[in-house]
Amino acid sequence: MQVATALGNWLPTRLADRLRRNWDRDQAIADLSNRDFDQIAARINAWRLRPVGSEGWRTAEVTVGGVDTKGIDARSMESRLQPGLFFIGEVVDVTGWLGGYNFQWAWASAEAAAKAILRG
Ligand SMILES: Cc1cc2nc3c(=O)[nH]c(=O)nc-3n(C[C@H](O)[C@H](O)[C@H](O)COP(=O)(O)OP(=O)(O)OC[C@H]3O[C@@H](n4cnc5c(N)ncnc54)[C@H](O)[C@@H]3O)c2cc1C
Repeated sequence: MQVATALGNWLPTRLADRLRRNWDRDQAIADLSNRDFDQIAARINAWRLRPVGSEGWRTAEVTVGGVDTKGIDARSMESRLQPGLFFIGEVVDVTGWLGGYNFQWAWASAEAAAKAILRG
């Protein structure tokens, strides 16, 4: 079995092929010395990803900042400084994990504020 074929058992084929180009030629595993194994392992483990950019704010998901929660009543989402002013969802300085927590926060804080407003 060739080294790239063996790597393909664990990695996507294109990634295995790209890693294979880090050494001179694809060899049969049976022909490798321990030193060859060490060199190949070192090259794979030293492989670095270098991001070349980002998609910018359009798809940015994790951001921090916003209205300080200390200034908001957690039950009603009403400002402690300005009665009658409510803050909910993304505008508040709450950072949710990926997985729906931001939607949950937006809806839950909106419900809390709506109920408080209806209560008067
Ligand atoms: C690419 C992307 C993917 C995401 N995926 C997920 C996910 O899978 N799960 C999850 O839980 N969360 C996800 N989120 C986060 C989630 O979308 C937000 O947390 C949530 O939509 C916040 O709701 P919101 O009502 O507080 O704010 P927004 O949804 O941002 O609503 C604010 C609204 O106010 C409007 N607005 C802004 N300024 C003014 C103004 N001056 N006058 C009038 N209207 C104004 C805007 O146009 C907008 O419609 C994602 C976010 C992004 C950007």
